[in-house]
Amino acid sequence: MGIIRLLPENIANQIAAGEVVQRPASVVKELLENAVDAGAKHIKLIVKDGGKGLIQVIDDGIGMDETDARLSFERHATSKIKSSDDLFRITTKGFRGEALASIAAVAQVEMKTRPHDRELGTLIKIEGSEVKMQQAVQTAAGTSVAVKNLFFNVPARRKFLKSAQVEMRHIIDEFQRVALAYPEIEFTLIHNGNELYRLFPSNLLRRITSVFGNKMEERLVPLNEETEYVKIYGYTGKPEYAKLKRGEQFFFVNKRFIKSSYLHNAVMKAYEGLLQEKRIPPYFIYFEIAPEHIDINIHPTKTEIKFDDEYTVYNILRASTRRALGQFNQMPSLDFDVMPELNLHVPRKTGTKNSEPKINVDPHFNPFKEENARPFAPGRFPDKASRQAIDRFSRFIMPETSFTPVISNDKDSLFDLNREIIEPETETLQWADKIIVVPLPEGIMFVHQHRAHVSVLFDEFYQYLKRGKIPSQQLMFPLHPDLLDTEIGWIEKNRDKFERSGFAWHKEKNNFHFTAIPAGFNEKQAMDFVENLIASLNEDLPEEEDAVNRFLAVSLALSSAVRPGQKLNTEERYNLVKALFRLPEPQFSPSGKRNFVILDENRIEKLF
Ligand code: ADP
Ligand code: MG
Repeated sequence: MGIIRLLPENIANQIAAGEVVQRPASVVKELLENAVDAGAKHIKLIVKDGGKGLIQVIDDGIGMDETDARLSFERHATSKIKSSDDLFRITTKGFRGEALASIAAVAQVEMKTRPHDRELGTLIKIEGSEVKMQQAVQTAAGTSVAVKNLFFNVPARRKFLKSAQVEMRHIIDEFQRVALAYPEIEFTLIHNGNELYRLFPSNLLRRITSVFGNKMEERLVPLNEETEYVKIYGYTGKPEYAKLKRGEQFFFVNKRFIKSSYLHNAVMKAYEGLLQEKRIPPYFIYFEIAPEHIDINIHPTKTEIKFDDEYTVYNILRASTRRALGQFNQMPSLDFDVMPELNLHVPRKTGTKNSEPKINVDPHFNPFKEENARPFAPGRFPDKASRQAIDRFSRFIMPETSFTPVISNDKDSLFDLNREIIEPETETLQWADKIIVVPLPEGIMFVHQHRAHVSVLFDEFYQYLKRGKIPSQQLMFPLHPDLLDTEIGWIEKNRDKFERSGFAWHKEKNNFHFTAIPAGFNEKQAMDFVENLIASLNEDLPEEEDAVNRFLAVSLALSSAVRPGQKLNTEERYNLVKALFRLPEPQFSPSGKRNFVILDENRIEKLF
């Protein structure tokens, strides 16, 4: 009886805030959108410590009087919707009236605001939904909202924020999205006192290049299509500039950034036959459509949208993209040098951000059982024939030695399969240029050459990284990579990861070149690695040191290992198999795939 109670308001607010405010970047998005809605011409974003310390947005928009200023923090307080009909005619970014209330529930907020026709403005301080102060102040026309110590009163959430660098990456993403939607507005972004972006009012193409660097211009072709139902315009990438990375793909519907795998597929369909495997072109595609044809209300952070006629949009988008490519004569003349494994197995964080890591436990595991004596990954014990093969190889090939780097000079390759010239002690064959076949007394062993080499290299690189860095080879002629300014920015920001991987570079104004790359890498392998690492930097990289080492080691190994399709001579084959069986766990590649299988006598005889 009487056990149902209303939640105290501050708790209700905190819970509701969870929907809107996931991380500092969500606050940035809401504040920038409010400034845009207020008709600002200049918007300045100031951030400290990846937004964990401070997020401040200053605009010169319409401002608020003291009543509105106070009301703006109330839940469901909005000036943008007056009747339910308005819901079908939304042209503003916000309309739910919950952003400021939500932010104020989980941070310390200070707002200064003044309408242009007033002498005095209003200052309001709110902490955890509690108004601490409201008074008249001298302040510039427009609005400044400063959000400090996000989640100060929700320690569980504060704890789950990522490093300042990762949070900043998300903030930059949001900043770019808004800036790309409004080229006519000036945007500035300052992080820890450094001006990262100053984007002057301009046309769309100029805005794109000021965000992504001037090189972007030559990579794009314009796209234009106008129908009764929808207008589509923007730019899409020439196929040869498609990258392994995602991150330069943007859709805007009525100036609102949206994500849509459905529309992405439409674009990718238009590129059919023009792209190397797994590459994605950059695109900046804008839709204008009457608001009554879309529903933007389906997602609390509003990055998804529903068109009432999705199918039509899909077809128009595909056709107009195809036409844009055709007009600029982007016909296929590509070299399909595909790398089937690259990128696929680089360990990425998956799933929800804050979920705990999964640990697979084998309840039947008994470490004292004889067959479990070798340290294989739990639940993946090799079968009997494999075990015998491993024992055989470890015994007759490899007197156990500890790891000793053998780089005597720059030219020495880290992973040269010809490094040790020895007489192979067993016959090997190569099948289809991808599988090494080794006859053993127990059966026939098939070694996956690419995975085996990745495993061997991974181990070697990992050992180097644990001890410091990968040896470098100085380049006789500097390597000028084809990188965008933003990408060079990422290299500099992640200096440590690149330097420890063996890279050195020189940067002077617009000139950037590598002066050293990892020992034993050729230029293509080095650039594959660079591109791959930049692509991963867009996502949440591991932060913990050992995880970073493993991550780098895998990426390095994937970019430099022999590929399926590569011929190996007798020594190379033998050395690879030998090196594989030196590993503590030869059975599996770093991504957990089989490196080899053995057809034992039983199975062979069954074939007949
Ligand atoms: P919404 O944007 O969905 O209306 P918000 O909580 O973001 O909800 O903002 C509430 C109201 O506060 C807005 O409708 C607007 O009237 C006012 N407001 C917020 N930020 C600004 C700003 N920078 N300039 C002027 N008015 C603002
Ligand atoms: Mg808003």
